[in-house]
Amino acid sequence: MSLQRLAIAPTQLQNEQVSLSASQQHYLRRVLRLQTGDRIILLNGQGQAWLAALQEGATATILEPYILQTELPLDVSLILALPKNGFDDVVRACTELGVSCMMPVISDRSLLKPSPQKLERWRRIATEAAEQSERQTIPPILEPIPFAKSLAHRPDTRSFIAVARGTWPHLLTAVAADSRPSAIQIAIGPEGGWSAAEVEMAIATGFQPVTLGSRILRAITAPIVALSLVTGVLESQQARE
Ligand code: SAM
Repeated sequence: MSLQRLAIAPTQLQNEQVSLSASQQHYLRRVLRLQTGDRIILLNGQGQAWLAALQEGATATILEPYILQTELPLDVSLILALPKNGFDDVVRACTELGVSCMMPVISDRSLLKPSPQKLERWRRIATEAAEQSERQTIPPILEPIPFAKSLAHRPDTRSFIAVARGTWPHLLTAVAADSRPSAIQIAIGPEGGWSAAEVEMAIATGFQPVTLGSRILRAITAPIVALSLVTGVLESQQARE
C-alpha cells in the first residue's frame, strides 16, 4: 500500500520530531483514519523526504530518510499571464507535470489582478498537487509582477514564448534540437494573447517564439500542453541516456 504524503514547513521539524498543525492532525486522524504508529512520508518541499511514524498527540517521529526520484532532469519554469478564470486548474496540472516555478505576470491584456488570498490559495493547491503526485519539491508561485519585469536574463536558461498565430518553430522540435540547457522557461499569454510589443520585447531579451500546434488553445490549456511537450522530450531523452 502506498503511504500518505504530507508536506511540512522546515520549522515543524526539530530533533527528529515533527509537530503537526491542527489541520494536519485532522486530515491524518479524522479524514484518513490513521492511528498512532502508522507510517507516513513527510516532504519538506525542497527535495528532502522522510519516513515517519505518527505518535500520540500532535507529533510524528522521523524514522529514516526516504529517497524519491520524481523531479524533471532540469528546471522548467512557466511565466503565466494571468487568465480571468481557471488558474487553479493550471496550478494543479502544472504541478503534477513537474513545473519548477510558476511566475504569474500582468500583461497588456491581462484581465485579473489577483488578491493576496488568491496567491495563498494557489500555493495551497500546489502543495496538495505536489503531495498527490509524489513530487520531491513544491513549486514556488511567485508574487505577480508586470510581464516586462519577468524578462530578466537568466544564465544558461533557454527561453520560449508561445505565440498563438504566425509561423514559428514547434516547441517540441525546438526543445528536442537543443543541447541540454540548465533550465527552460516558457511564457504563455492571456485570453487576448500577447501584444505585438510584448512579443518583440521578449524576442529582444532572448526568448524564442514557438507554436504549440495549429489550433488556438485556451490560455488555461496552453501551459499544460507546453509543459507536457517539454516533459515528454526531457524524460524520453533521459530514459535513453
Ligand atoms: N486571442 C489570441 C489570438 O487570437 O491570437 C489567442 C490567445 S490564446 C487563447 C492564449 C495564449 O495561449 C497565447 O497568448 C499563447 O501564449 C498560448 N497559445 C494558445 N494556442 C497556441 C498555439 N497554437 N501556439 C502557441 N501558443 C499558443
